Amino acid sequence: MTYVKDYVSLGKELLAILNDHGYDAYFVGGFVRDFLLGIPISDIDIASSATPDQVMALFENTKETGLKFGTITIVYHDFAFEVTTFRSDGKYQDNRHPTNVIYSQTLAEDLVRRDFTINALAMDKDGKIIDFCEGINDIKQKRIRAVGNPDVRFKEDALRILRAFRFVAKLDFQIEDSTWKHLVANCGLLKTISVERIMQEIKSINNNPYSAKAFKLMDAANISLVFPDLTKGIALIGSLSKNPFNHYQFYALCFYLNDGEIADYWRFSNKEHLIISKLINLVTVTEHEHFQVELVYAYGADLCRYANSIQKILRLGFDDDALIQEIDKNLPIHKVCDLKFKGQDIITTSNIKDARIIGEIISDLVLMVINNQLPNEYQALRTYAFDWIAKFEGKAVAHDK
Ligand code: ATP
Ligand code: MG
Repeated sequence: MTYVKDYVSLGKELLAILNDHGYDAYFVGGFVRDFLLGIPISDIDIASSATPDQVMALFENTKETGLKFGTITIVYHDFAFEVTTFRSDGKYQDNRHPTNVIYSQTLAEDLVRRDFTINALAMDKDGKIIDFCEGINDIKQKRIRAVGNPDVRFKEDALRILRAFRFVAKLDFQIEDSTWKHLVANCGLLKTISVERIMQEIKSINNNPYSAKAFKLMDAANISLVFPDLTKGIALIGSLSKNPFNHYQFYALCFYLNDGEIADYWRFSNKEHLIISKLINLVTVTEHEHFQVELVYAYGADLCRYANSIQKILRLGFDDDALIQEIDKNLPIHKVCDLKFKGQDIITTSNIKDARIIGEIISDLVLMVINNQLPNEYQALRTYAFDWIAKFEGKAVAHDK
Protein backbone atom coordinates (compact mmCIF):
# COMPACT_ATOMS: atom_id res chain seq x y z
CA MET A 1 0.00 0.00 0.00
CA THR A 2 1.35 3.42 -0.85
CA TYR A 3 1.19 5.96 1.88
CA VAL A 4 0.25 9.44 0.69
CA LYS A 5 1.45 12.06 3.09
CA ASP A 6 -0.72 15.11 3.33
CA TYR A 7 0.07 18.52 1.91
CA VAL A 8 1.04 20.08 5.24
CA SER A 9 3.43 17.28 6.28
CA LEU A 10 5.08 17.46 2.87
CA GLY A 11 5.40 21.22 3.33
CA LYS A 12 7.07 20.65 6.70
CA GLU A 13 9.52 18.27 5.00
CA LEU A 14 10.37 21.02 2.54
CA LEU A 15 10.97 23.50 5.36
CA ALA A 16 13.24 20.94 7.04
CA ILE A 17 15.24 20.41 3.83
CA LEU A 18 15.73 24.16 3.45
CA ASN A 19 16.70 24.48 7.15
CA ASP A 20 19.15 21.58 6.86
CA HIS A 21 20.92 23.47 4.08
CA GLY A 22 21.30 26.54 6.23
CA TYR A 23 18.30 28.56 5.01
CA ASP A 24 15.49 30.01 7.08
CA ALA A 25 12.10 28.90 5.79
CA TYR A 26 8.53 29.32 7.01
CA PHE A 27 4.94 28.84 5.95
CA VAL A 28 3.47 32.33 5.46
CA GLY A 29 0.35 34.28 4.53
CA GLY A 30 -3.09 32.85 3.91
CA PHE A 31 -2.13 29.29 4.80
CA VAL A 32 -1.13 30.19 8.38
CA ARG A 33 -4.26 32.33 8.82
CA ASP A 34 -6.62 29.63 7.54
CA PHE A 35 -4.78 26.89 9.44
CA LEU A 36 -5.24 28.82 12.72
CA LEU A 37 -8.89 29.44 11.89
CA GLY A 38 -9.37 25.75 11.17
CA ILE A 39 -10.89 26.42 7.76
CA PRO A 40 -10.00 24.61 4.51
CA ILE A 41 -6.66 25.72 3.11
CA SER A 42 -5.88 26.34 -0.54
CA ASP A 43 -2.19 26.76 -1.37
CA ILE A 44 0.82 26.71 0.88
CA ASP A 45 3.21 29.61 0.43
CA ILE A 46 6.71 29.43 1.85
CA ALA A 47 9.06 32.34 2.53
CA SER A 48 12.77 31.59 2.77
CA SER A 49 16.16 33.25 3.01
CA ALA A 50 17.24 31.05 0.05
CA THR A 51 17.39 32.91 -3.27
CA PRO A 52 15.62 31.48 -6.34
CA ASP A 53 18.95 30.07 -7.63
CA GLN A 54 19.60 28.36 -4.33
CA VAL A 55 16.08 26.91 -4.27
CA MET A 56 16.45 25.62 -7.82
CA ALA A 57 19.81 24.05 -7.00
CA LEU A 58 18.28 22.21 -4.05
CA PHE A 59 15.16 20.69 -5.60
CA GLU A 60 14.74 18.63 -8.73
CA ASN A 61 11.33 19.69 -9.93
CA THR A 62 11.04 23.47 -9.91
CA LYS A 63 9.35 26.08 -12.08
CA GLU A 64 10.15 29.75 -12.45
CA THR A 65 6.61 30.97 -11.80
CA GLY A 66 7.41 34.47 -10.54
CA LEU A 67 11.12 35.00 -10.83
CA LYS A 68 10.67 38.79 -10.95
CA PHE A 69 9.37 38.67 -7.38
CA GLY A 70 11.74 35.92 -6.27
CA THR A 71 9.15 33.14 -6.51
CA ILE A 72 9.91 29.56 -7.50
CA THR A 73 7.34 26.77 -7.47
CA ILE A 74 8.61 23.47 -6.14
CA VAL A 75 6.65 20.40 -7.15
CA TYR A 76 7.23 17.93 -4.37
CA HIS A 77 5.48 14.53 -4.41
CA ASP A 78 2.99 16.00 -6.89
CA PHE A 79 2.10 18.94 -4.63
CA ALA A 80 3.00 22.53 -5.56
CA PHE A 81 4.61 24.92 -3.11
CA GLU A 82 5.45 28.52 -3.92
CA VAL A 83 8.73 29.51 -2.34
CA THR A 84 9.50 33.22 -2.28
CA THR A 85 12.75 34.71 -1.10
CA PHE A 86 12.33 37.01 1.91
CA ARG A 87 11.88 40.44 0.46
CA SER A 88 11.09 43.97 1.33
CA ASP A 89 9.38 45.95 -1.37
CA GLY A 90 11.12 49.06 -2.64
CA LYS A 91 9.22 52.27 -3.28
CA TYR A 92 5.77 51.87 -4.84
CA GLN A 93 4.69 53.44 -8.11
CA ASP A 94 1.23 53.91 -9.67
CA ASN A 95 -0.55 52.93 -6.42
CA ARG A 96 0.08 49.30 -7.13
CA HIS A 97 3.59 48.09 -7.99
CA PRO A 98 6.82 48.30 -6.07
CA THR A 99 9.49 49.88 -8.31
CA ASN A 100 11.93 47.21 -7.21
CA VAL A 101 11.95 44.15 -5.00
CA ILE A 102 14.79 43.88 -2.54
CA TYR A 103 15.76 40.50 -1.14
CA SER A 104 16.11 40.54 2.56
CA GLN A 105 17.69 38.19 5.06
CA THR A 106 14.99 38.46 7.69
CA LEU A 107 11.54 37.05 8.03
CA ALA A 108 10.51 40.16 9.98
CA GLU A 109 11.01 42.42 6.96
CA ASP A 110 9.13 40.01 4.76
CA LEU A 111 6.17 39.93 7.13
CA VAL A 112 5.79 43.66 7.63
CA ARG A 113 5.48 44.31 3.86
CA ARG A 114 2.27 42.21 3.87
CA ASP A 115 -1.17 43.81 3.70
CA PHE A 116 -3.10 42.84 6.84
CA THR A 117 -1.94 41.54 10.21
CA ILE A 118 -3.93 38.32 9.77
CA ASN A 119 -1.87 37.70 6.61
CA ALA A 120 1.44 38.58 8.22
CA LEU A 121 1.89 35.41 10.25
CA ALA A 122 4.50 32.71 9.75
CA MET A 123 4.83 29.13 10.97
CA ASP A 124 8.02 27.07 11.23
CA LYS A 125 8.45 23.35 10.56
CA ASP A 126 7.49 22.49 14.16
CA GLY A 127 4.25 24.42 14.00
CA LYS A 128 5.53 27.39 16.03
CA ILE A 129 3.81 30.65 15.04
CA ILE A 130 5.79 33.84 14.46
CA ASP A 131 3.65 36.92 14.92
CA PHE A 132 5.32 40.35 14.75
CA CYS A 133 2.13 42.30 14.00
CA GLU A 134 -0.36 40.95 16.55
CA GLY A 135 -2.07 38.97 13.84
CA ILE A 136 -3.16 36.22 16.23
CA ASN A 137 -4.96 38.74 18.41
CA ASP A 138 -6.67 40.17 15.33
CA ILE A 139 -7.73 36.68 14.26
CA LYS A 140 -9.21 36.17 17.74
CA GLN A 141 -10.98 39.54 17.53
CA LYS A 142 -12.12 38.74 13.95
CA ARG A 143 -10.51 41.94 12.76
CA ILE A 144 -8.89 43.07 9.51
CA ARG A 145 -6.17 45.56 10.32
CA ALA A 146 -3.51 46.97 8.00
CA VAL A 147 0.09 46.25 8.89
CA GLY A 148 1.61 49.59 9.87
CA ASN A 149 0.12 52.91 8.77
CA PRO A 150 -3.10 52.15 6.86
CA ASP A 151 -3.00 55.39 4.89
CA VAL A 152 0.49 54.62 3.60
CA ARG A 153 -0.38 51.00 2.90
CA PHE A 154 -3.49 51.80 0.83
CA LYS A 155 -1.64 54.52 -1.06
CA GLU A 156 1.21 52.10 -1.82
CA ASP A 157 -1.18 49.58 -3.31
CA ALA A 158 -4.84 50.49 -3.74
CA LEU A 159 -5.77 46.92 -4.61
CA ARG A 160 -5.50 46.25 -0.86
CA ILE A 161 -8.81 48.11 -0.54
CA LEU A 162 -10.58 45.39 -2.50
CA ARG A 163 -8.52 42.72 -0.75
CA ALA A 164 -9.93 43.96 2.58
CA PHE A 165 -13.43 43.37 1.20
CA ARG A 166 -12.36 39.96 -0.09
CA PHE A 167 -11.34 38.94 3.43
CA VAL A 168 -14.63 40.25 4.85
CA ALA A 169 -16.41 38.09 2.27
CA LYS A 170 -14.27 35.07 3.10
CA LEU A 171 -13.98 35.31 6.90
CA ASP A 172 -16.92 37.44 8.10
CA PHE A 173 -14.44 39.70 9.94
CA GLN A 174 -14.84 43.42 10.75
CA ILE A 175 -12.50 46.05 9.34
CA GLU A 176 -10.69 47.79 12.23
CA ASP A 177 -11.62 51.47 12.71
CA SER A 178 -8.46 53.23 11.58
CA THR A 179 -8.00 50.81 8.66
CA TRP A 180 -11.61 51.50 7.67
CA LYS A 181 -11.22 55.27 7.89
CA HIS A 182 -8.19 55.28 5.57
CA LEU A 183 -9.69 52.67 3.28
CA VAL A 184 -12.68 54.94 2.70
CA ALA A 185 -10.46 58.00 2.25
CA ASN A 186 -8.36 56.22 -0.39
CA CYS A 187 -11.15 54.50 -2.32
CA GLY A 188 -10.76 56.86 -5.26
CA LEU A 189 -7.29 55.39 -5.90
CA LEU A 190 -8.97 52.22 -7.15
CA LYS A 191 -9.43 54.11 -10.42
CA THR A 192 -5.72 53.63 -11.01
CA ILE A 193 -5.90 49.81 -10.79
CA SER A 194 -6.32 47.76 -13.95
CA VAL A 195 -9.84 46.58 -14.61
CA GLU A 196 -8.62 42.97 -14.95
CA ARG A 197 -7.28 42.92 -11.38
CA ILE A 198 -10.41 44.62 -10.09
CA MET A 199 -12.58 42.02 -11.82
CA GLN A 200 -10.51 39.20 -10.28
CA GLU A 201 -11.12 40.60 -6.81
CA ILE A 202 -14.83 41.17 -7.44
CA LYS A 203 -15.08 37.57 -8.64
CA SER A 204 -13.35 36.38 -5.52
CA ILE A 205 -15.67 38.50 -3.34
CA ASN A 206 -18.69 37.00 -5.12
CA ASN A 207 -17.41 33.46 -4.66
CA ASN A 208 -17.00 33.81 -0.91
CA PRO A 209 -19.76 33.06 1.61
CA TYR A 210 -20.11 36.50 3.26
CA SER A 211 -20.15 38.56 0.07
CA ALA A 212 -23.42 40.34 0.97
CA LYS A 213 -21.66 41.79 4.02
CA ALA A 214 -18.68 42.80 1.86
CA PHE A 215 -20.98 44.55 -0.64
CA LYS A 216 -22.76 46.35 2.19
CA LEU A 217 -19.42 47.71 3.35
CA MET A 218 -18.41 48.56 -0.22
CA ASP A 219 -21.62 50.52 -0.52
CA ALA A 220 -20.96 52.28 2.80
CA ALA A 221 -17.43 53.14 1.64
CA ASN A 222 -18.93 54.76 -1.47
CA ILE A 223 -16.74 52.52 -3.54
CA SER A 224 -19.52 52.75 -6.07
CA LEU A 225 -18.27 56.18 -7.09
CA VAL A 226 -15.37 54.33 -8.69
CA PHE A 227 -17.65 51.85 -10.49
CA PRO A 228 -20.77 53.88 -11.26
CA ASP A 229 -22.40 51.07 -13.23
CA LEU A 230 -22.14 48.71 -10.24
CA THR A 231 -23.54 51.21 -7.70
CA LYS A 232 -27.16 50.11 -7.56
CA GLY A 233 -26.40 46.39 -7.77
CA ILE A 234 -23.83 46.52 -4.98
CA ALA A 235 -26.25 48.48 -2.78
CA LEU A 236 -29.06 46.03 -3.46
CA ILE A 237 -27.01 42.90 -2.76
CA GLY A 238 -25.53 44.62 0.31
CA SER A 239 -29.05 45.00 1.68
CA LEU A 240 -29.67 41.23 1.54
CA SER A 241 -28.74 38.83 4.33
CA LYS A 242 -27.06 36.54 1.80
CA ASN A 243 -25.84 37.09 -1.76
CA PRO A 244 -27.87 34.66 -3.91
CA PHE A 245 -25.94 35.49 -7.10
CA ASN A 246 -23.00 34.04 -8.95
CA HIS A 247 -20.46 36.06 -10.95
CA TYR A 248 -22.68 36.31 -14.08
CA GLN A 249 -25.82 37.20 -12.17
CA PHE A 250 -23.95 39.83 -10.18
CA TYR A 251 -22.87 41.76 -13.28
CA ALA A 252 -26.21 41.21 -15.05
CA LEU A 253 -28.09 42.64 -12.07
CA CYS A 254 -25.72 45.61 -11.78
CA PHE A 255 -25.85 46.48 -15.47
CA TYR A 256 -29.61 45.94 -15.66
CA LEU A 257 -30.12 48.33 -12.75
CA ASN A 258 -27.77 50.84 -14.36
CA ASP A 259 -28.66 51.30 -18.03
CA GLY A 260 -28.82 47.74 -19.35
CA GLU A 261 -25.52 48.13 -21.20
CA ILE A 262 -22.16 46.42 -20.70
CA ALA A 263 -19.66 49.28 -20.90
CA ASP A 264 -16.61 48.73 -23.12
CA TYR A 265 -14.04 49.08 -20.36
CA TRP A 266 -15.06 45.80 -18.68
CA ARG A 267 -12.85 42.94 -19.81
CA PHE A 268 -15.17 39.96 -20.05
CA SER A 269 -14.31 36.88 -22.06
CA ASN A 270 -16.63 36.29 -25.03
CA LYS A 271 -18.42 33.59 -23.06
CA GLU A 272 -18.94 35.82 -20.02
CA HIS A 273 -20.10 38.71 -22.20
CA LEU A 274 -22.63 36.49 -23.95
CA ILE A 275 -24.05 35.02 -20.75
CA ILE A 276 -24.27 38.39 -19.01
CA SER A 277 -25.98 40.05 -21.97
CA LYS A 278 -28.45 37.16 -22.28
CA LEU A 279 -29.26 37.50 -18.58
CA ILE A 280 -29.79 41.25 -18.97
CA ASN A 281 -32.19 40.53 -21.88
CA LEU A 282 -34.08 37.92 -19.89
CA VAL A 283 -34.48 40.16 -16.86
CA THR A 284 -35.62 43.00 -19.13
CA VAL A 285 -38.28 40.97 -20.95
CA THR A 286 -39.62 39.48 -17.73
CA GLU A 287 -39.92 42.87 -16.04
CA HIS A 288 -43.73 42.64 -16.13
CA GLU A 289 -44.26 39.15 -17.59
CA HIS A 290 -43.87 35.53 -16.61
CA PHE A 291 -41.32 33.27 -18.26
CA GLN A 292 -42.82 31.93 -21.49
CA VAL A 293 -42.22 28.76 -23.48
CA GLU A 294 -40.38 30.75 -26.18
CA LEU A 295 -37.91 32.14 -23.62
CA VAL A 296 -37.15 28.77 -22.04
CA TYR A 297 -36.61 27.28 -25.50
CA ALA A 298 -34.47 30.17 -26.79
CA TYR A 299 -32.30 30.76 -23.71
CA GLY A 300 -32.37 27.35 -22.04
CA ALA A 301 -33.71 26.51 -18.59
CA ASP A 302 -30.43 27.18 -16.76
CA LEU A 303 -30.15 30.81 -17.87
CA CYS A 304 -33.87 31.36 -17.29
CA ARG A 305 -33.49 30.05 -13.75
CA TYR A 306 -30.51 32.38 -13.17
CA ALA A 307 -32.61 35.29 -14.46
CA ASN A 308 -35.53 34.18 -12.33
CA SER A 309 -33.33 34.39 -9.21
CA ILE A 310 -32.59 38.00 -10.12
CA GLN A 311 -36.24 38.72 -10.78
CA LYS A 312 -37.17 37.17 -7.43
CA ILE A 313 -35.17 39.90 -5.71
CA LEU A 314 -36.47 42.65 -7.99
CA ARG A 315 -40.16 41.66 -8.04
CA LEU A 316 -41.57 41.03 -4.62
CA GLY A 317 -43.36 37.67 -4.42
CA PHE A 318 -42.27 36.64 -7.93
CA ASP A 319 -40.87 33.16 -8.47
CA ASP A 320 -41.13 31.28 -11.76
CA ASP A 321 -38.57 28.62 -10.92
CA ALA A 322 -41.06 25.74 -10.84
CA LEU A 323 -42.77 27.09 -13.97
CA ILE A 324 -39.47 27.23 -15.88
CA GLN A 325 -38.64 23.65 -14.92
CA GLU A 326 -42.12 22.49 -15.88
CA ILE A 327 -41.91 24.25 -19.26
CA ASP A 328 -38.47 22.76 -19.86
CA LYS A 329 -39.62 19.25 -18.95
CA ASN A 330 -42.52 19.50 -21.40
CA LEU A 331 -40.62 21.07 -24.29
CA PRO A 332 -40.95 18.69 -27.26
CA ILE A 333 -37.66 20.02 -28.69
CA HIS A 334 -34.72 21.86 -27.14
CA LYS A 335 -32.80 22.80 -30.28
CA VAL A 336 -33.75 23.48 -33.87
CA CYS A 337 -31.93 20.33 -34.98
CA ASP A 338 -34.39 18.29 -32.86
CA LEU A 339 -37.08 19.08 -35.48
CA LYS A 340 -38.05 15.97 -37.43
CA PHE A 341 -38.39 18.01 -40.64
CA LYS A 342 -35.38 20.23 -41.27
CA GLY A 343 -34.17 23.01 -43.55
CA GLN A 344 -32.38 20.41 -45.65
CA ASP A 345 -35.73 18.62 -46.18
CA ILE A 346 -37.24 21.86 -47.51
CA ILE A 347 -34.41 22.17 -50.03
CA THR A 348 -34.71 18.58 -51.25
CA THR A 349 -38.52 18.38 -51.38
CA SER A 350 -39.49 21.85 -52.64
CA ASN A 351 -38.39 24.58 -55.02
CA ILE A 352 -37.47 26.90 -52.19
CA LYS A 353 -33.71 27.48 -51.99
CA ASP A 354 -33.60 30.94 -50.41
CA ALA A 355 -31.94 30.57 -47.00
CA ARG A 356 -33.86 33.51 -45.53
CA ILE A 357 -37.22 32.00 -46.44
CA ILE A 358 -36.16 28.57 -45.21
CA GLY A 359 -35.13 30.23 -41.95
CA GLU A 360 -38.57 31.81 -41.61
CA ILE A 361 -40.34 28.51 -42.22
CA ILE A 362 -38.16 26.71 -39.67
CA SER A 363 -38.73 29.44 -37.05
CA ASP A 364 -42.43 29.08 -37.60
CA LEU A 365 -42.22 25.29 -37.27
CA VAL A 366 -40.28 25.65 -34.03
CA LEU A 367 -42.91 28.00 -32.60
CA MET A 368 -45.73 25.62 -33.59
CA VAL A 369 -43.95 22.62 -32.04
CA ILE A 370 -42.88 24.21 -28.76
CA ASN A 371 -46.39 25.58 -28.27
CA ASN A 372 -47.84 22.10 -28.92
CA GLN A 373 -49.74 23.31 -31.96
CA LEU A 374 -48.00 20.72 -34.14
CA PRO A 375 -46.51 17.34 -33.22
CA ASN A 376 -42.80 16.96 -33.92
CA GLU A 377 -43.44 14.44 -36.72
CA TYR A 378 -41.97 14.52 -40.21
CA GLN A 379 -45.29 14.31 -42.08
CA ALA A 380 -47.13 16.90 -40.00
CA LEU A 381 -44.26 19.38 -40.23
CA ARG A 382 -43.86 18.77 -43.95
CA THR A 383 -47.55 19.41 -44.59
CA TYR A 384 -47.41 22.62 -42.58
CA ALA A 385 -44.25 23.74 -44.41
CA PHE A 386 -45.80 23.05 -47.81
CA ASP A 387 -48.96 25.00 -46.90
CA TRP A 388 -46.68 27.81 -45.81
CA ILE A 389 -44.80 27.66 -49.13
CA ALA A 390 -48.03 27.49 -51.14
CA LYS A 391 -49.36 30.59 -49.36
CA PHE A 392 -46.06 32.32 -49.85
CA GLU A 393 -45.91 31.47 -53.54
CA GLY A 394 -49.54 32.51 -53.98
CA LYS A 395 -48.72 35.85 -52.46
CA ALA A 396 -45.62 36.11 -54.60
CA VAL A 397 -47.64 35.32 -57.76
CA ALA A 398 -50.34 37.86 -56.78
CA HIS A 399 -47.59 40.35 -56.19
CA ASP A 400 -46.03 39.64 -59.61
CA LYS A 401 -49.30 40.28 -61.45
P1 ATP B 1 -6.81 33.53 -0.19
O1 ATP B 1 -7.11 32.43 0.75
O2 ATP B 1 -8.01 34.33 -0.57
O3 ATP B 1 -5.94 33.12 -1.37
P2 ATP B 1 -4.36 34.76 0.72
O4 ATP B 1 -4.07 35.46 2.02
O5 ATP B 1 -3.62 33.50 0.44
O6 ATP B 1 -5.93 34.56 0.67
P3 ATP B 1 -3.19 35.77 -1.70
O7 ATP B 1 -3.73 36.81 -2.63
O8 ATP B 1 -3.05 34.39 -2.18
O9 ATP B 1 -4.12 35.82 -0.41
O10 ATP B 1 -1.79 36.32 -1.18
C1 ATP B 1 -0.91 35.56 -0.37
C2 ATP B 1 -0.25 36.44 0.69
O11 ATP B 1 0.58 37.42 0.07
C3 ATP B 1 -1.23 37.24 1.55
O12 ATP B 1 -1.66 36.47 2.67
C4 ATP B 1 -0.38 38.43 1.97
O13 ATP B 1 0.47 38.09 3.04
C5 ATP B 1 0.49 38.66 0.75
N1 ATP B 1 -0.10 39.63 -0.20
C6 ATP B 1 -0.80 39.36 -1.32
N2 ATP B 1 -1.17 40.46 -1.98
C7 ATP B 1 -0.66 41.49 -1.27
C8 ATP B 1 -0.68 42.92 -1.44
N3 ATP B 1 -1.32 43.47 -2.46
N4 ATP B 1 -0.03 43.65 -0.51
C9 ATP B 1 0.62 43.10 0.53
N5 ATP B 1 0.67 41.77 0.75
C10 ATP B 1 0.04 40.98 -0.12
MG1 MG C 1 -3.73 32.42 -1.51
